[in-house]
Amino acid sequence: MLNYQAILEEIHESLKNTENTGEVASYISELANISKDKFGIHLQLITGENYFVGDAAEKFSIQSISKVLSLAKAFQLVGNDLLERVDVEPSGNPFNHLSLLELENGIPRNPLINSGAIVIADVLLSNLKNPKEDFLNFVRELTHDESIQYNEKIAESERVTGFNNYAAANLLKAYGNLHNKVEDVLDFYFHQCSIMMDCKQLTNAFFVFANKGKCLKNIQHLTSSQVKRINAIMLTCGFYDEAGEFAFEVGLPGKSGVGGGIVALLPHYFTIATWAPALNKKGNSFLGMQALEQFTTKTRLSIF
Ligand code: GLU
Repeated sequence: MLNYQAILEEIHESLKNTENTGEVASYISELANISKDKFGIHLQLITGENYFVGDAAEKFSIQSISKVLSLAKAFQLVGNDLLERVDVEPSGNPFNHLSLLELENGIPRNPLINSGAIVIADVLLSNLKNPKEDFLNFVRELTHDESIQYNEKIAESERVTGFNNYAAANLLKAYGNLHNKVEDVLDFYFHQCSIMMDCKQLTNAFFVFANKGKCLKNIQHLTSSQVKRINAIMLTCGFYDEAGEFAFEVGLPGKSGVGGGIVALLPHYFTIATWAPALNKKGNSFLGMQALEQFTTKTRLSIF
Protein backbone atom coordinates (compact mmCIF):
# COMPACT_ATOMS: atom_id res chain seq x y z
CA MET A 1 0.00 0.00 0.00
CA LEU A 2 1.33 3.44 -0.99
CA ASN A 3 2.14 5.91 1.78
CA TYR A 4 0.08 8.78 0.35
CA GLN A 5 0.76 11.17 3.22
CA ALA A 6 4.52 10.76 2.84
CA ILE A 7 4.24 11.24 -0.94
CA LEU A 8 2.23 14.48 -0.58
CA GLU A 9 4.70 15.81 1.99
CA GLU A 10 7.67 14.95 -0.20
CA ILE A 11 6.11 16.75 -3.19
CA HIS A 12 5.14 19.78 -1.13
CA GLU A 13 8.58 20.05 0.44
CA SER A 14 10.47 19.74 -2.83
CA LEU A 15 8.33 22.28 -4.70
CA LYS A 16 8.04 24.81 -1.89
CA ASN A 17 11.76 25.35 -2.16
CA THR A 18 12.04 25.63 -5.93
CA GLU A 19 12.03 29.01 -7.65
CA ASN A 20 8.44 29.87 -8.55
CA THR A 21 8.54 31.85 -11.80
CA GLY A 22 4.73 32.00 -12.07
CA GLU A 23 2.64 35.16 -11.63
CA VAL A 24 -0.62 35.62 -9.76
CA ALA A 25 -3.48 36.57 -12.15
CA SER A 26 -3.87 40.32 -12.02
CA TYR A 27 -6.50 41.02 -14.70
CA ILE A 28 -9.16 40.41 -12.03
CA SER A 29 -8.02 42.92 -9.43
CA GLU A 30 -9.39 40.99 -6.42
CA LEU A 31 -7.17 38.03 -7.32
CA ALA A 32 -4.00 40.10 -7.57
CA ASN A 33 -3.67 40.50 -3.79
CA ILE A 34 -3.31 36.81 -3.00
CA SER A 35 0.06 35.61 -1.73
CA LYS A 36 2.16 33.69 -4.20
CA ASP A 37 3.45 31.50 -1.34
CA LYS A 38 0.17 29.68 -0.72
CA PHE A 39 0.42 26.01 -1.62
CA GLY A 40 -1.88 23.16 -0.63
CA ILE A 41 -2.72 19.65 -1.84
CA HIS A 42 -5.64 17.42 -0.85
CA LEU A 43 -6.13 13.81 -1.96
CA GLN A 44 -9.31 11.85 -1.44
CA LEU A 45 -9.48 8.15 -2.28
CA ILE A 46 -12.70 6.63 -3.56
CA THR A 47 -12.67 4.48 -0.42
CA GLY A 48 -13.02 7.65 1.68
CA GLU A 49 -9.48 8.17 3.05
CA ASN A 50 -8.21 11.75 2.98
CA TYR A 51 -4.63 13.07 2.94
CA PHE A 52 -3.52 16.68 2.78
CA VAL A 53 -0.60 19.04 3.14
CA GLY A 54 0.01 22.83 3.30
CA ASP A 55 -2.78 25.34 2.67
CA ALA A 56 -5.31 22.70 1.61
CA ALA A 57 -8.04 24.06 3.90
CA GLU A 58 -7.84 27.68 2.77
CA LYS A 59 -10.61 28.87 0.45
CA PHE A 60 -9.84 30.48 -2.89
CA SER A 61 -11.80 31.52 -5.97
CA ILE A 62 -12.32 28.42 -8.12
CA GLN A 63 -12.73 30.46 -11.34
CA SER A 64 -12.78 28.19 -14.42
CA ILE A 65 -13.01 25.01 -12.34
CA SER A 66 -16.67 26.02 -11.95
CA LYS A 67 -17.14 25.41 -15.70
CA VAL A 68 -17.09 21.63 -15.11
CA LEU A 69 -19.79 21.94 -12.46
CA SER A 70 -22.00 24.14 -14.65
CA LEU A 71 -21.51 21.71 -17.54
CA ALA A 72 -22.57 18.85 -15.24
CA LYS A 73 -25.72 20.71 -14.20
CA ALA A 74 -26.57 21.58 -17.83
CA PHE A 75 -26.05 17.96 -18.91
CA GLN A 76 -28.32 16.85 -16.09
CA LEU A 77 -31.01 19.31 -17.21
CA VAL A 78 -30.98 19.05 -21.01
CA GLY A 79 -28.81 16.01 -21.88
CA ASN A 80 -27.21 15.74 -25.30
CA ASP A 81 -29.26 18.65 -26.75
CA LEU A 82 -26.46 20.71 -25.27
CA LEU A 83 -24.16 19.55 -28.04
CA GLU A 84 -26.16 21.48 -30.62
CA ARG A 85 -24.93 24.70 -29.07
CA VAL A 86 -21.36 23.86 -28.06
CA ASP A 87 -18.77 21.53 -29.59
CA VAL A 88 -16.36 19.17 -27.81
CA GLU A 89 -13.07 19.78 -29.62
CA PRO A 90 -9.94 21.16 -27.96
CA SER A 91 -9.33 24.74 -29.05
CA GLY A 92 -5.54 24.97 -28.86
CA ASN A 93 -6.14 28.60 -27.98
CA PRO A 94 -6.17 30.65 -24.77
CA PHE A 95 -9.36 30.53 -22.68
CA ASN A 96 -10.68 33.89 -23.85
CA HIS A 97 -9.84 33.67 -27.56
CA LEU A 98 -12.53 34.91 -29.93
CA SER A 99 -11.33 34.29 -33.49
CA LEU A 100 -12.54 30.67 -33.66
CA LEU A 101 -15.96 31.71 -32.47
CA GLU A 102 -16.36 33.93 -35.50
CA LEU A 103 -14.96 31.36 -37.91
CA GLU A 104 -17.27 28.70 -36.54
CA ASN A 105 -20.47 30.76 -36.62
CA GLY A 106 -20.97 31.26 -32.92
CA ILE A 107 -20.57 27.62 -31.86
CA PRO A 108 -17.85 27.56 -29.17
CA ARG A 109 -15.17 24.90 -29.55
CA ASN A 110 -15.90 23.34 -26.15
CA PRO A 111 -17.70 24.09 -22.84
CA LEU A 112 -14.49 24.80 -20.90
CA ILE A 113 -13.32 27.86 -22.83
CA ASN A 114 -15.02 31.10 -21.82
CA SER A 115 -17.39 31.34 -24.80
CA GLY A 116 -18.50 27.72 -24.24
CA ALA A 117 -19.03 28.29 -20.54
CA ILE A 118 -21.05 31.41 -21.35
CA VAL A 119 -23.37 29.30 -23.56
CA ILE A 120 -23.68 26.79 -20.69
CA ALA A 121 -24.53 29.66 -18.33
CA ASP A 122 -27.25 30.71 -20.80
CA VAL A 123 -28.67 27.14 -20.78
CA LEU A 124 -28.78 27.20 -16.97
CA LEU A 125 -30.48 30.58 -16.98
CA SER A 126 -33.17 29.22 -19.29
CA ASN A 127 -33.70 26.01 -17.30
CA LEU A 128 -33.35 26.93 -13.63
CA LYS A 129 -36.03 28.77 -11.69
CA ASN A 130 -33.62 30.74 -9.51
CA PRO A 131 -30.39 30.25 -11.46
CA LYS A 132 -27.74 31.57 -9.04
CA GLU A 133 -29.39 30.05 -6.00
CA ASP A 134 -30.15 26.71 -7.67
CA PHE A 135 -26.64 26.36 -9.08
CA LEU A 136 -25.06 27.14 -5.70
CA ASN A 137 -27.31 24.52 -4.14
CA PHE A 138 -26.19 21.97 -6.73
CA VAL A 139 -22.52 22.66 -5.86
CA ARG A 140 -23.35 22.41 -2.15
CA GLU A 141 -25.17 19.13 -2.71
CA LEU A 142 -22.27 17.57 -4.61
CA THR A 143 -19.84 18.77 -1.95
CA HIS A 144 -22.12 18.06 1.03
CA ASP A 145 -21.28 21.44 2.39
CA GLU A 146 -23.85 24.18 2.96
CA SER A 147 -21.17 26.77 3.70
CA ILE A 148 -20.08 27.25 0.06
CA GLN A 149 -20.71 30.81 -1.17
CA TYR A 150 -20.22 33.18 -4.05
CA ASN A 151 -17.70 35.96 -3.45
CA GLU A 152 -19.54 39.15 -4.44
CA LYS A 153 -16.37 41.25 -4.44
CA ILE A 154 -14.63 38.93 -6.90
CA ALA A 155 -17.73 38.72 -9.12
CA GLU A 156 -17.95 42.53 -9.21
CA SER A 157 -14.24 42.91 -9.81
CA GLU A 158 -14.52 40.58 -12.79
CA ARG A 159 -17.54 42.42 -14.13
CA VAL A 160 -15.70 45.74 -14.32
CA THR A 161 -12.75 44.26 -16.22
CA GLY A 162 -14.62 41.60 -18.19
CA PHE A 163 -14.31 43.16 -21.65
CA ASN A 164 -13.30 39.92 -23.33
CA ASN A 165 -16.24 38.09 -21.82
CA TYR A 166 -18.60 40.88 -22.91
CA ALA A 167 -17.14 40.60 -26.42
CA ALA A 168 -17.67 36.81 -26.44
CA ALA A 169 -21.22 37.10 -25.14
CA ASN A 170 -22.10 39.78 -27.69
CA LEU A 171 -20.67 37.69 -30.51
CA LEU A 172 -22.69 34.68 -29.31
CA LYS A 173 -25.79 36.86 -29.18
CA ALA A 174 -25.15 38.11 -32.73
CA TYR A 175 -25.00 34.50 -33.93
CA GLY A 176 -28.22 33.61 -32.11
CA ASN A 177 -26.47 31.29 -29.64
CA LEU A 178 -27.42 33.25 -26.52
CA HIS A 179 -31.10 33.26 -25.57
CA ASN A 180 -31.02 35.45 -22.48
CA LYS A 181 -29.74 39.00 -22.03
CA VAL A 182 -25.94 39.42 -22.23
CA GLU A 183 -25.90 41.21 -18.87
CA ASP A 184 -27.88 38.45 -17.12
CA VAL A 185 -25.81 35.61 -18.55
CA LEU A 186 -22.55 37.30 -17.59
CA ASP A 187 -23.82 38.09 -14.10
CA PHE A 188 -24.40 34.34 -13.64
CA TYR A 189 -21.01 33.48 -15.23
CA PHE A 190 -19.05 35.94 -13.05
CA HIS A 191 -20.77 34.56 -9.96
CA GLN A 192 -20.06 30.91 -10.80
CA CYS A 193 -16.35 31.80 -11.25
CA SER A 194 -16.31 33.61 -7.90
CA ILE A 195 -17.29 30.54 -5.85
CA MET A 196 -14.90 30.03 -2.95
CA MET A 197 -13.75 26.51 -2.12
CA ASP A 198 -10.74 24.84 -0.56
CA CYS A 199 -8.86 21.81 -1.89
CA LYS A 200 -10.80 19.38 0.30
CA GLN A 201 -14.15 20.74 -0.90
CA LEU A 202 -13.00 20.44 -4.52
CA THR A 203 -12.11 16.78 -4.05
CA ASN A 204 -15.60 16.29 -2.55
CA ALA A 205 -17.33 18.06 -5.43
CA PHE A 206 -15.40 16.14 -8.10
CA PHE A 207 -15.94 12.78 -6.41
CA VAL A 208 -19.02 12.38 -8.62
CA PHE A 209 -16.76 12.23 -11.72
CA ALA A 210 -14.56 9.53 -10.19
CA ASN A 211 -17.54 7.51 -8.99
CA LYS A 212 -19.71 6.98 -12.11
CA GLY A 213 -22.02 9.87 -11.32
CA LYS A 214 -22.65 9.14 -7.64
CA CYS A 215 -21.64 11.76 -5.08
CA LEU A 216 -20.04 11.11 -1.69
CA LYS A 217 -23.41 10.18 -0.23
CA ASN A 218 -24.02 7.68 -3.02
CA ILE A 219 -26.76 9.75 -4.69
CA GLN A 220 -26.78 9.37 -8.50
CA HIS A 221 -26.51 12.89 -10.00
CA LEU A 222 -25.27 12.02 -13.52
CA THR A 223 -25.39 8.91 -15.68
CA SER A 224 -22.15 7.01 -16.18
CA SER A 225 -22.25 8.00 -19.86
CA GLN A 226 -22.47 11.71 -18.93
CA VAL A 227 -19.55 11.27 -16.55
CA LYS A 228 -17.50 9.55 -19.26
CA ARG A 229 -18.15 12.50 -21.55
CA ILE A 230 -17.38 15.16 -18.96
CA ASN A 231 -14.11 13.39 -18.06
CA ALA A 232 -13.20 13.22 -21.76
CA ILE A 233 -13.84 16.96 -22.11
CA MET A 234 -11.69 17.66 -19.04
CA LEU A 235 -8.85 15.56 -20.43
CA THR A 236 -8.89 17.19 -23.86
CA CYS A 237 -9.93 20.75 -22.98
CA GLY A 238 -9.36 21.32 -19.24
CA PHE A 239 -6.08 23.27 -19.37
CA TYR A 240 -6.51 26.01 -21.96
CA ASP A 241 -3.87 25.54 -24.65
CA GLU A 242 -1.83 23.32 -22.33
CA ALA A 243 -4.26 20.38 -22.29
CA GLY A 244 -1.90 18.23 -24.35
CA GLU A 245 0.95 18.98 -21.97
CA PHE A 246 -1.17 18.12 -18.92
CA ALA A 247 -2.27 14.80 -20.46
CA PHE A 248 1.36 14.11 -21.39
CA GLU A 249 2.89 15.00 -18.02
CA VAL A 250 0.09 14.07 -15.61
CA GLY A 251 -2.29 11.77 -17.48
CA LEU A 252 -5.53 12.59 -15.66
CA PRO A 253 -8.75 14.42 -16.56
CA GLY A 254 -8.80 17.70 -14.68
CA LYS A 255 -9.53 21.41 -14.73
CA SER A 256 -7.58 24.47 -13.73
CA GLY A 257 -8.66 28.00 -12.88
CA VAL A 258 -6.89 31.36 -12.83
CA GLY A 259 -7.35 31.46 -9.04
CA GLY A 260 -4.48 28.91 -9.00
CA GLY A 261 -6.56 25.80 -8.31
CA ILE A 262 -6.38 22.51 -10.18
CA VAL A 263 -8.58 19.49 -9.60
CA ALA A 264 -7.91 16.14 -11.26
CA LEU A 265 -9.15 12.60 -10.86
CA LEU A 266 -8.57 8.99 -11.67
CA PRO A 267 -11.93 7.28 -12.27
CA HIS A 268 -12.67 4.65 -9.61
CA TYR A 269 -9.57 5.62 -7.56
CA PHE A 270 -9.23 9.19 -6.34
CA THR A 271 -9.76 12.92 -6.70
CA ILE A 272 -6.94 15.35 -6.00
CA ALA A 273 -6.87 19.15 -5.75
CA THR A 274 -3.95 21.56 -5.59
CA TRP A 275 -3.85 25.30 -4.93
CA ALA A 276 -0.88 27.57 -5.65
CA PRO A 277 -1.91 30.99 -7.03
CA ALA A 278 1.08 31.82 -9.25
CA LEU A 279 0.32 30.84 -12.85
CA ASN A 280 2.61 29.82 -15.69
CA LYS A 281 2.47 31.59 -19.05
CA LYS A 282 -0.48 29.45 -20.20
CA GLY A 283 -2.55 30.40 -17.15
CA ASN A 284 -2.18 27.15 -15.19
CA SER A 285 -0.83 26.94 -11.64
CA PHE A 286 2.96 26.72 -11.89
CA LEU A 287 3.38 24.56 -8.78
CA GLY A 288 0.10 22.68 -9.16
CA MET A 289 1.06 21.29 -12.59
CA GLN A 290 4.40 20.08 -11.23
CA ALA A 291 2.85 18.65 -8.06
CA LEU A 292 0.41 16.55 -10.09
CA GLU A 293 3.14 15.43 -12.46
CA GLN A 294 5.18 14.24 -9.47
CA PHE A 295 2.13 12.60 -7.90
CA THR A 296 1.26 10.42 -10.90
CA THR A 297 4.95 9.63 -11.48
CA LYS A 298 5.56 8.57 -7.87
CA THR A 299 2.33 6.59 -7.48
CA ARG A 300 2.15 5.33 -11.10
CA LEU A 301 -1.57 6.10 -10.95
CA SER A 302 -2.87 7.69 -14.13
CA ILE A 303 -5.36 6.75 -16.81
CA PHE A 304 -2.59 5.60 -19.14
N1 GLU B 1 -13.48 34.19 -14.68
C1 GLU B 1 -12.31 34.03 -15.50
C2 GLU B 1 -12.53 34.72 -16.84
O1 GLU B 1 -13.56 34.57 -17.41
C3 GLU B 1 -12.10 32.58 -15.67
C4 GLU B 1 -10.79 32.33 -16.27
C5 GLU B 1 -10.21 31.04 -15.84
O2 GLU B 1 -10.17 30.67 -14.67
O3 GLU B 1 -9.74 30.42 -16.77
O4 GLU B 1 -11.69 35.43 -17.33
